[in-house]
Amino acid sequence: MKGLIQDYQLTLPAILRRAEDLYGKKEIVSRNPDKSFHRYTYADFVRRTKKLAVALGELGLEKGDRVATLAWNTYQHLEAYFGVPTAGLVLNTVNPRLSQNDLSYILDHAGDKVLLIDETLVELIDGFKDEVDLEHIFVFSADGSAPEGLESYEDLLEGADEADFEYPELDETDAAALCYTSGTTGRPKGALYSHRSVCLHSFALAAADGLGIRERDVVLPVVPMFHVNAWGVPFASTMVGAKQVMPGKHLDPESLLEDYEQERVTFTAGVPTVFLAVLQTLDGDPEAYDLSRMRSMAIGGSAAPESMIRGFDERHGLSVVHAWGMTETDPVATVCHLTGELLEAPEDEQYKYRAKQGFPLPFIEIRGRGDEGFIPWDGEAMGELEVRGPWVANSYFNTEEGSDKFTEDGWFKTGDIVTIEPRGYVEIRDRDKDLVKSGGEWISSVDLENAIMGHEAVAEAAVIAIPHEKWDERPLAVVVLKDGQEATAEDLLSHLEGDFAKWQLPDAVEFVDEIPRTATGKFLKMELREQFKDYQFAQS
Ligand code: ADP
Repeated sequence: MKGLIQDYQLTLPAILRRAEDLYGKKEIVSRNPDKSFHRYTYADFVRRTKKLAVALGELGLEKGDRVATLAWNTYQHLEAYFGVPTAGLVLNTVNPRLSQNDLSYILDHAGDKVLLIDETLVELIDGFKDEVDLEHIFVFSADGSAPEGLESYEDLLEGADEADFEYPELDETDAAALCYTSGTTGRPKGALYSHRSVCLHSFALAAADGLGIRERDVVLPVVPMFHVNAWGVPFASTMVGAKQVMPGKHLDPESLLEDYEQERVTFTAGVPTVFLAVLQTLDGDPEAYDLSRMRSMAIGGSAAPESMIRGFDERHGLSVVHAWGMTETDPVATVCHLTGELLEAPEDEQYKYRAKQGFPLPFIEIRGRGDEGFIPWDGEAMGELEVRGPWVANSYFNTEEGSDKFTEDGWFKTGDIVTIEPRGYVEIRDRDKDLVKSGGEWISSVDLENAIMGHEAVAEAAVIAIPHEKWDERPLAVVVLKDGQEATAEDLLSHLEGDFAKWQLPDAVEFVDEIPRTATGKFLKMELREQFKDYQFAQS
């Protein structure tokens, strides 16, 4: 027997309609390239988004066609987030920090017909725009202009009549957004989200044990809208009607801190590298900014070191929430909150938990696969994390590559090596290829990095495996010191003693000016390994 409930489809137009009905007066603020602020209301946003949907329809695109964006976090990008899927098309957000090679590969592989590009990024496509199959390139600009040979986004909207818009009846399983992995593991691969997956993920972000995003929040996503849909934060924020603050291309700590203070931001989200810089700026002058409104800073994308979580909390009264996810999981899958039981635990234990990646959101299931089957949830045994749920990919878009990551019984193999403790808290110990294998034992590079970054003189640290005749591999720490600070290799190694067995300590520490980053701000270990491929330890 079936339940007697309406067959209501979970789609993005429904979120747009809700925004129109309920939140017309709420504000969306956005930084222009010249740092000035663009302000408008949800009512303006809905009006322009409807025009975009109409205009795209009039271009003769067919249902399911892809529309790419290359843009910062701005109001125009937000219009595309809703206007493209509402027109029955698929939003393909592309990461401008990728190489030209990867950019043209993605536009070509996705089969994008239209590109919406930020005025500050148009040079990126000069080299290949004639080689890909784009029918139109529209430019997002502050003054509505477009460089020669390209079309103006404002003109596109101008030419559309809002009266021609009708809310479409889409199927919730229709594709809504296409995001490519950033290629840390081979060619970028596409994860194709459905309306349903985006809607359910938005619900999970709004849940209190998710990110708790609600109407009264002022939300500033630092995580770029070109990277896994800014963790879905713009979708969830629009669903609940939060005021949104879009930082544009101004992602330096001072600009962000100005935005936080001036717009009274209550919730923000981004990767650890950005927040390490924010923390350093705050430490430099703790009185300079009033962040008393900030309720939560969600940090993820790579491990948030315990020292950073403590630093924000103890020195600035700011609460960090650690989250984990991947392009293939739409992307947020686990979020770290303390359970009621852990609220009673000693502070040190609480911080240990808060540095874990957290427990799965509702409807996300997890398991860890070790060498001898699934690992027990004892917080000790390590295995590869597998996940399944209503916003987890079941295959990659238009390729067989990577199909071995999807198990026969319907789970996705994340490539992350984890422990799971009895309450379900996941702790990422490494990516499978980043573990250091020494004398038959595994050393977690993440544990070492986090501990080294806990030293007061250290700005950033990455640990990589160096081939070793006797031990197979040994760890090398590559460290960037904070400006004006000094520390020797011995200082850092003695800082680690006590927390690590002697055999787990790095054999050497190399000081560098910067650690190479991926297009999304994570340490690019692949390149670091390349840089140090002929490295010899002094004593070996
Ligand atoms: P990629 O880095 O492969 O381009 P993603 O941006 O989807 O793809 O990154 C997903 C990966 O980032 C995860 O598999 C995991 O290794 C890492 N990651 C994400 N969040 C965290 C976190 N909170 N702690 C540690 N690692 C994380």
